[in-house]
Amino acid sequence: MATIQSDVLVIGGGLAGIVTALECLRAGQRVILVDRDAPERFGGLALWAFGGMALIGTPLQARMKIPDTPEVALRDWTRFGELDPNDTYPMQWARCYAEHSRAQVHDWLLREGVRFMPAVNWVERGLHGDGNSLPRYHIVWGTSRELTRRMIAALRAADGGRLTVLHRLRVTQVDRSAGRIDGAVAIDELTGADTRLQASVVVLAMGGINGSHEQVRANWPQGRAMPEAMLNGAHPFADGKLHHLAAGLGAQITYAGEMWNYAAGFPHPYPHFEGHGLSTIPCKSALWLNHRGERIGPQPLVTGFDTHWLCRRVAEQEKPWTWHLLNWRIAIKEFAISGAEHNQRIRDQQFPQFLYETLFGNHRLVRQMLRESRDFLVDDTLSGLAAKMNTLTCSLDIDPAVLQATADAFDANFANGNKLENDDQIRRILHARQWGPDRLRTCKPAPLQMHGAGPFIAIRMQLITRKSLGGLRTDLHSRVLDVHDQPIQGLYCVGEAAGFGGGGASGKRSLEGTFLPGCILTARAAARSITGKERFS
Ligand SMILES: Cc1cc2nc3c(=O)[nH]c(=O)nc-3n(C[C@H](O)[C@H](O)[C@H](O)COP(=O)(O)OP(=O)(O)OC[C@H]3O[C@@H](n4cnc5c(N)ncnc54)[C@H](O)[C@@H]3O)c2cc1C
Repeated sequence: MATIQSDVLVIGGGLAGIVTALECLRAGQRVILVDRDAPERFGGLALWAFGGMALIGTPLQARMKIPDTPEVALRDWTRFGELDPNDTYPMQWARCYAEHSRAQVHDWLLREGVRFMPAVNWVERGLHGDGNSLPRYHIVWGTSRELTRRMIAALRAADGGRLTVLHRLRVTQVDRSAGRIDGAVAIDELTGADTRLQASVVVLAMGGINGSHEQVRANWPQGRAMPEAMLNGAHPFADGKLHHLAAGLGAQITYAGEMWNYAAGFPHPYPHFEGHGLSTIPCKSALWLNHRGERIGPQPLVTGFDTHWLCRRVAEQEKPWTWHLLNWRIAIKEFAISGAEHNQRIRDQQFPQFLYETLFGNHRLVRQMLRESRDFLVDDTLSGLAAKMNTLTCSLDIDPAVLQATADAFDANFANGNKLENDDQIRRILHARQWGPDRLRTCKPAPLQMHGAGPFIAIRMQLITRKSLGGLRTDLHSRVLDVHDQPIQGLYCVGEAAGFGGGGASGKRSLEGTFLPGCILTARAAARSITGKERFS
């Protein structure tokens, strides 16, 4: 068997693995970075991600007069995530994030040449105001793809002949001798040849477990409804195998059932793997309907407040899909898809075009989806739309009279002027529109059947799996802990594999945009520990 030696072995070429490797290289270590995927997919999920980041106490927040502090953020984080205050390691990482996201992520990224868009957005406000009490969602200009490219460029620049990057090799074994982890074995999936990778430190950066439906189903919390069918919005190689391998070496997998899924996905028109889904940023103004075309309630489903709650409500429905009913006016202003792929203007840094589409509507994306996706339906009449919805699901589930009644009941709110509106969705939209960046992206409430707002659009939505909130338990050095909470010598874990720190730093819910920063934070902590530099207090 061929053998390669190094100081540090990083398993996984996503953002967490790349940043760990980069920081170790900069500190003079020799590094092997091994990844299962193809070279063009180097960067893992970060290559596809959107690039939203929850950051606390930034100059941009100050400029927008947002009085954020680590104390406020930690309070929001622990309340929204329902963290157990006695659960030491997730709590330590939550605190670490709140206190260090500014210096360790924001300022560090600026030094690496990454830029943010000039507005802070307000996501996950909480169903009862118990989420982000303030806006803190910053967007990377160029999306996460630009961030990833910069990180890869920095990695190459720091190489100095000390970096070995291996693609298309799957780690199948982690080695231990004399009580210390000291390497791994990886198989070339094309030739079947094994390679031994020796190092005095091994860093697990293999992502989460939500890329495997088997794992998702096996870990789904008991007592919570699980839909019959789901789409996959995670990494197809995020299969949990290395988590279990680490558990075999004494590591703890914690909170594997806590997931950050999304409630409004649809199949990718050009899937990269089986079951591949896209996650929409659903339109706040769309009516969210069950498979029969009735509005889900009594509390209407509105995005931007509590994604976890939306997922639970959607999972409780009789059929594994729901419908969004909207019109062209809403779609061009509000419809978006998460990720670099469908946010061309931000990804390609086309500011004038971005501004134009924000102000005058993104007809381009809506037309593209109508062309490419069979789950996007359009018609001038609600009865025509009902017929198309039934054709798609091969059923007679949608009674046109029910769909009409649903739209009429909502529109009745506007019959007597806005002083007599009484609908929770309208209230939430009005609240969202108080914040400038949301106002730009959210329509003023109006009847669905308003003259000139058509045609009508229906989008079939399904639950889509995304991030694992749980993972391998780690301390603040990103060292993997055994069942007695003692570090397993020589073994580290970073990024999504570690539940973004501590085996579940987010608890049940994320404030959103905590994942990319969580990768950077845990990776930098690991590199500090490995290279003997100072650590977070
Ligand atoms: C469309 C989309 C949008 C997103 N938007 C955001 C956002 O706006 N903000 C945010 O914070 N987060 C976002 N995320 C989530 C974020 O991108 C991920 O949580 C993060 O990138 C995970 O990075 P990672 O390095 O931990 O793991 P990954 O990116 O999953 O990388 C793991 C790597 O490990 C490799 N691997 C796995 N098993 C093995 C093995 N046995 N041997 C060798 N290699 C292996 C894989 O090939 C992969 O390259 C988004 C994700 C997606 C998909």
